[in-house]
Amino acid sequence: MAFPNGQSTTRLYNGLVIRLVVAVIVLVSLGVAGSLYINAGNSPGPTIAIHQPIGFIGGTSHFEVSIDSGDGLLTSATGTVEQNGISHPLFTLSNSTQANITQETETRIRVIGDLTRELYPELAPGPISIVVRASRSVLFGLREQESTARLDLEARFDPPRLSVASSFHYINHGGAELVVYHIRPPDAESGVFVGDRFFQGYPATAAGVDSTDETLRVALFAVLHDQELNEPIRLYARDAAGNEAEANFDYRVFPKEFRRSRIPISDGFLDKVVPEIISRSNEFRTLPMPPDAGPLEKYLAINGGLRRLNAERIRALAADTADTRLWTGPFRQLANSQVESGFADHRTYIYEGRDVDQQVHLGFDLAVTANVPILAAQAGRVVWADYLGIYGNCVIIDHGLGLQSLYAHLSTIGVQTGDTVGPDDELGRSGMTGLAGGDHLHFATLLNGWPVNPTEWWDPHWIEDRITRKLRLNQAP
Ligand SMILES: [Zn+2]
Repeated sequence: MAFPNGQSTTRLYNGLVIRLVVAVIVLVSLGVAGSLYINAGNSPGPTIAIHQPIGFIGGTSHFEVSIDSGDGLLTSATGTVEQNGISHPLFTLSNSTQANITQETETRIRVIGDLTRELYPELAPGPISIVVRASRSVLFGLREQESTARLDLEARFDPPRLSVASSFHYINHGGAELVVYHIRPPDAESGVFVGDRFFQGYPATAAGVDSTDETLRVALFAVLHDQELNEPIRLYARDAAGNEAEANFDYRVFPKEFRRSRIPISDGFLDKVVPEIISRSNEFRTLPMPPDAGPLEKYLAINGGLRRLNAERIRALAADTADTRLWTGPFRQLANSQVESGFADHRTYIYEGRDVDQQVHLGFDLAVTANVPILAAQAGRVVWADYLGIYGNCVIIDHGLGLQSLYAHLSTIGVQTGDTVGPDDELGRSGMTGLAGGDHLHFATLLNGWPVNPTEWWDPHWIEDRITRKLRLNQAP
């Protein structure tokens, strides 16, 4: 009888355990690796965003795409423009001759390129899509995850069409005029360029024209006092796809003699205006000023630098205009007032016999007696009722379609920003705050934030000829 000895039994047993443990480790490892592999398959592909174009592709569009690979490596990226089942290449990661690819962050690239009619002549108007595909590596490069972004757009290549409906456009230098025209498609932006200054056009119905023609537009525009008489004037339009068009129309510009005046500055005047304006104008502190500047130096900074900052503030308020005409008929001039200074007078300032400054006066100075009620020249909405540098206590009223009026040097303000006012509503009392030597009203009319000659807006004949008649002629019969 042979009995297996205890030693060999133990050895056999140990061998089995080791093999079992190894098998379990191998199986668990395989399981972990497998689940890692499967989990990696669930992790997302790169994040793709198509920023441009928006809504439409036009004749001169461009595209802009960003791709973020997250914690993986971007392995491929392609962009195509697709129409009627045919796809045209926009870019690939490996070949960037068509597009400009920049590394925006450690994980994100931005691709910018042209998508013009010239580069893709086979594209046609109608539905069109941009498709971007990108892959990134996950699990140490063992797997790849792809994602696709698709943007459906409309291709429009025809430029908008402009045609002029009004005739006889006469513009006085520094003054305004109105043009009536048609724009197709009606959702295109349009207006008038005078040199490089743009004046927005509005639907004719917004100006009070009774018409069902949705292509009919009106635009107020001006040849500004600081522009040349021969600035080119043209209609301009741009559709949602970025296609642009221009059209000429007949007009005549008449020169206007701007007056020249010489204004002496006394120490008493400086003592009156300089401390008040500095104490009430935070913007003054942004102007360069030596610490030992005297009253004249401070005055010159007010008359130059602060005047410019105030003009910028006024210009910014132009955006706060109603898209309907809030006024009818001529504007009211301050009753019984004496005209002390006209529009666009070129002023030379004299101190102790020396010429110290030159500025252009961009309003009308009207004097009655002290502290008289200042009334709204026309109906509108108050867009400014506060101190405004050289203008002192100042009210600005918006009359819609880019037209505004300004009332300066008031002693008191009786309205608030946002108030609706009718013609002849009291805005405050006349005074001499800001850059004023005596009690008077400085009145200005503004078109798109630029000063235009107020006398035209006071003149019933001018209102009839230049504006009301043209609107009436384009009414529905
Ligand atoms: Zn003035």
